[in-house]
Amino acid sequence: MTTVERTAVIGAGTMGAGIAAHMANAGLWVAMLDLGDAAASALAALPDRSPPPLVSSAAARLIRPGRLEHDLDMVADADWIVEAIVEDADAKRSLYARLDAVRKPGSIVSSNTSTIPLHELLAGAPYGLERDLVITHFFNPPRYMRLLEIVPGGARPDAVDALERVCDLRLGKTVVRCNDTPGFIANRLGVFWIGTAIGEALARGLTVEEADAVMGAPLGIPRTGVFGLMDIVGLGLHEQVNASLDRLLPAGDAWHRVPAHADLLRRMVAIGATGRAAGRGFYARDGARRLAIDLATLTYRDAARPPRLPRSPRELVEMGGPLGEYAWAVLGRTLAYAAAMVPEVTDRPELIDLAMRRGYGWERGPFEMIEELGADHLAARLARDGIALPEPMPRAAAVRRGSDRDRIAGNDSATLWDTGDGVACLELHTKANAVDAAMLEMIAVAAAVADRGYRAVVVCTEDAHFSVGANLAHVLALANVAAWDRLDAFGAAGRAAFGALKFAPVPVVGAVAGRALGGGCELLLHCDAVQAHTDTYMGLVEVGAGLVPGWGGCRELLLRAAASAPGGGPMPPARQAYETIATARVSTSAQEARELGLLRARDRITPNRDRLLADARTFALELSDGYSPPDPAMIAAAGRSGRATLALGARQLARRDGAVTDYDLRLADVLAGVLTGGDADPTEPVPEREISELEAAAVADLVRREQTLARMTHLLETGRPLRN
Ligand code: NAD
Repeated sequence: MTTVERTAVIGAGTMGAGIAAHMANAGLWVAMLDLGDAAASALAALPDRSPPPLVSSAAARLIRPGRLEHDLDMVADADWIVEAIVEDADAKRSLYARLDAVRKPGSIVSSNTSTIPLHELLAGAPYGLERDLVITHFFNPPRYMRLLEIVPGGARPDAVDALERVCDLRLGKTVVRCNDTPGFIANRLGVFWIGTAIGEALARGLTVEEADAVMGAPLGIPRTGVFGLMDIVGLGLHEQVNASLDRLLPAGDAWHRVPAHADLLRRMVAIGATGRAAGRGFYARDGARRLAIDLATLTYRDAARPPRLPRSPRELVEMGGPLGEYAWAVLGRTLAYAAAMVPEVTDRPELIDLAMRRGYGWERGPFEMIEELGADHLAARLARDGIALPEPMPRAAAVRRGSDRDRIAGNDSATLWDTGDGVACLELHTKANAVDAAMLEMIAVAAAVADRGYRAVVVCTEDAHFSVGANLAHVLALANVAAWDRLDAFGAAGRAAFGALKFAPVPVVGAVAGRALGGGCELLLHCDAVQAHTDTYMGLVEVGAGLVPGWGGCRELLLRAAASAPGGGPMPPARQAYETIATARVSTSAQEARELGLLRARDRITPNRDRLLADARTFALELSDGYSPPDPAMIAAAGRSGRATLALGARQLARRDGAVTDYDLRLADVLAGVLTGGDADPTEPVPEREISELEAAAVADLVRREQTLARMTHLLETGRPLRN
């Protein structure tokens, strides 16, 4: 097997159906088999799962369901067969024997087991299976979790390479190859950390909120900390991994000295408090009330506000007091355990860092934390606790971060880098990448970078999200003191900067992942092309803030809609753009952004986040050959009658849904006016500049209105739109 096109997944449960969906997302054919009708039911239920496993409803068409009892020959043409049935070695082994009778020579079989070693799966296996069987350990949910651990064992290297390629390039996973050791990498350390954190919290009488506050943000670990994480993963699954580590790890392993916590988990399972899927775990909800469990009595009470803590691991472990001592007890042992995993689990410490970053969402891996705390300092303090670190201490190979780029220009909001080959890269770096005046300034500098000899620009960020849009706090602050001139100037600066980007003499490629909302989305609409990560959530959501897009978003969407359906007159594009903006639709994937007209056919999708910037650079370089900027366009505008048609549609919808406010209707009218060119004559196309002017006038008017300011205030305070 040198390539993978056809796949099969056996077991259509939580993981199997999720893996099958994600393979279909990547355009691979999937046969999905389970007992009886389970696969067909799982396929039908995919659209109801949360978070959505499919990038678009069309992807589901690549999945064919089948019954294990009768349809096993459906796997006959599969290049790769994933087994994701119950965690039972006998069941898995007997399945492999059946598969061997039908699968094609050269196909590869992989198990998604989280706890059974490869050598146990192979015990008594059909002759030759050891050359074809590997473990591919996906994390839940498979579409979103970036880590994929592969245990290649003795499988054919060419087949493992082909598997790694498809997982990396098409499924978008960060692939980490592991030895055949219990829990592989991420769970081996992650479960040790969780066990230690729970056991120490119990022994010290801490509350779950206190423990989670310590084990979360100050350590660069997701805010769910440890108890919150258990609720997400589910206590049942955790018990399974625990039991397997108990069974498989040698007596001398520090795992067996993790402070007692299994009894607590058993009691929680006994009362049905197994996590979010069950509706309650260490935390629960009662309407708007957030509850937390009392670890001694296992009864719920109101969750307390988390304590204030220092922001760095070092300050945290040195602050003393019950929480500081707790932090040290857990972190010190966890870091020592990570060090002891080398070389048995992997001889590359940086892979442990990578696995914890991608599999557990840690900002820094254990070896990065060891560097930060100081290895000698850590060793001395651990020695006082009777814990020895390995000699010499394993060190992660240095990760190259930005060392191969020079700065061209920059300020607090964005930096323009020289990334070689004549490509300048504009990196956005405000909080949530909200667009402020300083960022606009740098966008204008980037648009003029051809003057310094550059051939292409890429706009990107290292953050999870591209941009939440214009800095509303800034807008609101100006509005509250009636600084209208400055507000209008901010609007004009946005239009000028985005316009300069659109008409720059070199191509501009936006590299987007995560949210690109409002002004962030408008920024991308002004790029020549977009390289989008699969999980791109794009949308013009301005109406939620009581506005319409005012930095060229209305005009660009109109242009795109017109280009995708030429010759149909001005009304269909106006209607399409109107529906997308008036309903503040946000794509749930890059694929869907394309369906909404926010991305174009020429825009490209990168499944692997790690490759996004490199792919965007390649794209920009391709476009730079013989590039010429677009000419300002003429737009066919529907004029007053078109506006009346759109407005009527909005009112009919309002009557049907009932949930629409007068201000929603007002915004819809304003939007309809912009998208139909105001008083334009429908027989005469208007220059695109005129639509921009209408946008600007609409925003200048709306931003002075009380209801708009109330919407912005509410959005900033609660993160949710106000329907006033
Ligand atoms: P699940 O219980 O949701 O699904 C298992 C599926 O296998 C069910 O649909 C069931 O009908 C089918 N099945 C049961 N017995 C079978 C048999 N004898 N032959 C064929 N099919 C059978 O389980 P899951 O959570 O999807 O886990 C599947 C595998 O993935 C397990 O090996 C598990 O350890 C591993 N895993 C799970 C997670 C997770 O978070 N759930 C994460 C990583 C790995």
